[in-house]
Amino acid sequence: MPIATVNPANGETLKTYEAMGAEEIERRLQLAEATFRTYRTTTFDERARLLNRAADLLDEDQRDIARVMTTEMGKPVKQARAEAAKCAKAMRWYAGHAEALLADEEPGDADVRDSGASRVRIRYRPLGPVLAVMPWNFPLWQVVRFAAPALMAGNVGLLKHASNVPQTALYLEDLFHRAGFAEGTFQTLLIGSGAVEEILRDERVKAATLTGSEPAGRAVASVCGDMVKKTVLELGGSDPYVVMPSADLGRAAEVAVTARVQNNGQSCIAAKRFIVHTDVYDAFAERFTAGMKALKVGDPMEEDTEVGPLSTEQGRSDLEELVDDATRSGATALCGGHRLRRPELPGWYYPPTVLAGITREMRIHREEAFGPVATLYRAGDLDEAVLIANDTPFGLSSNVWTRDEGEVDRFVRDLEAGSVYVNGMTASHPAFPFGGAKRSGYGRELSGHGIREFCNITTVWHG
Ligand code: NAP
Repeated sequence: MPIATVNPANGETLKTYEAMGAEEIERRLQLAEATFRTYRTTTFDERARLLNRAADLLDEDQRDIARVMTTEMGKPVKQARAEAAKCAKAMRWYAGHAEALLADEEPGDADVRDSGASRVRIRYRPLGPVLAVMPWNFPLWQVVRFAAPALMAGNVGLLKHASNVPQTALYLEDLFHRAGFAEGTFQTLLIGSGAVEEILRDERVKAATLTGSEPAGRAVASVCGDMVKKTVLELGGSDPYVVMPSADLGRAAEVAVTARVQNNGQSCIAAKRFIVHTDVYDAFAERFTAGMKALKVGDPMEEDTEVGPLSTEQGRSDLEELVDDATRSGATALCGGHRLRRPELPGWYYPPTVLAGITREMRIHREEAFGPVATLYRAGDLDEAVLIANDTPFGLSSNVWTRDEGEVDRFVRDLEAGSVYVNGMTASHPAFPFGGAKRSGYGRELSGHGIREFCNITTVWHG
């Protein structure tokens, strides 16, 4: 894949970049290692001052960087601004909380005495340069979600961003630099995925985090496994959205639309499979389909656009194939189901689509639909709803709509996912752990759990 900005709204190539060669990569690895030697000794106060400064700069840049993101990957510009604001918030959250999250811990007196020590401390020390391999769908947020805790912990970051968002990738390096971080604290490597393995095998790189697809995650984790290096993987999702008879149906249907089409439907934590109790199935299907049909599809630079183009032509073909496979095998499109053929929309658009009559044999039942396509399932009771919800290789997040506390307990006990959102849609927050089960990956980002992933948890024993 060339490293280039190609506008998904019209297919136009706006800027192409030469991938960095071996010499430049070596220079940057040396710089990362050298910078880490001093950066690791900085105080939390110094790091927080720099990260807060980065947050302020990002707020100032919000309108401009939002337009860059929209040009590179097609998300509605209003959502791009919200993404930038969310990044600034996460930076400030880690700037304010990292010291407490990484404070030394002291085990209980009885255990300290039992070990024969006079004192024991558990200290969180940084690991060193960490490589982050990141996707294009939230081109700022995915990176900041890694960088804010990693830098506050005293690590230095190397970013290999997706090849279709090079301008956002370069902006991030510049942002941290302008904030006052030393040059090697956060560096962008403009490289293709083929250059990742050699960097992972380099002794100076201590760990890796990848957000992206399962094949990419497997490739990075295999190399890191071979090198005995820590990894965090945030992979795909096909989150269930379960609606039970006691739910506020109007609200559940309204939120379902946003939960499915946020970011043009290209979000790992978008609700993708809508599992509805038979007693309310018809009413929900009608309201949900009406909401999906009413969405404004169009130029993502327009303020009132709700669904823009998919970010790559390949992404649209992949989605189209999933839908065609389902309809060929008997699924019914309640809306959408075919590529838009409007001459005024030359880009990679796909209409909001609702598919009913899904069976286990259809690819879309097992695979992630990365675009504005929802699948509807009818469940006879709670047990069947849980069975359908868990009948997927993924386990990222889940959503349940019910006012029955007993049902909530059952869902929380039985759903195989990294989070359960009750009467609402999944949305990450810096204070809560984020990550998946099953083939959605392992490890956690955000919160105290996230910042400790790339720490050397050190026992200090005093005789
Ligand atoms: P992708 O193709 O896996 O790309 C993600 C990143 O991995 C890109 O930087 C890509 O580089 C790189 N990459 C691809 N193959 C690689 C390999 N063999 N070795 C090393 N690096 C490799 O995924 P995507 O299509 O950009 O993103 C969509 C996927 O990400 C979806 O499955 C989505 O659910 C998932 N996602 C998960 C989360 C989460 O938090 N769990 C969040 C967002 C997205 P190139 O661009 O150069 O190929």
